[in-house]
Amino acid sequence: MNDKNCVFCNIVNGTQPAKIVFKNDFATAFWDINPVAPVHILIIPNKHIESINHLQVKDTLLLGNLFQVAKNIAKDLNIDKNGYRLVINTGPDGGQSIYHLHLHLVGGKKFVQVFK
Ligand code: AMP
Ligand code: ZN
Repeated sequence: MNDKNCVFCNIVNGTQPAKIVFKNDFATAFWDINPVAPVHILIIPNKHIESINHLQVKDTLLLGNLFQVAKNIAKDLNIDKNGYRLVINTGPDGGQSIYHLHLHLVGGKKFVQVFK
């Protein structure tokens, strides 16, 4: 179930260009267009899920798969030992701007503040 007006669905179906680093039947990972750190990759489900608020119980394995992909990419890009952040923004107050669920993988620098 994809939405043709959704930029991330269009990255999954290849009509929107992106620097894709990984893709399988469930998830796609690509570089963020506006990185906040030397490594900033977005990991998304191939299926359109608007946000964490829209997760269904049947999506539980899919969500787990996103974290497995993040872990593998962190290792491939050699940021696993120093560490990284995994962030999911949800809704307006959470700072979500694209309403297709995505996990930010950010690393390659030291973050000092937890929240700001
Ligand atoms: P969020 O604010 O959590 O919804 O994050 C959306 C992220 O998507 C931001 O970090 C944007 O820089 C990024 N973004 C928006 N459009 C694109 C795109 N076409 N390709 C890659 N990243 C994008
Ligand atoms: Zn979508």
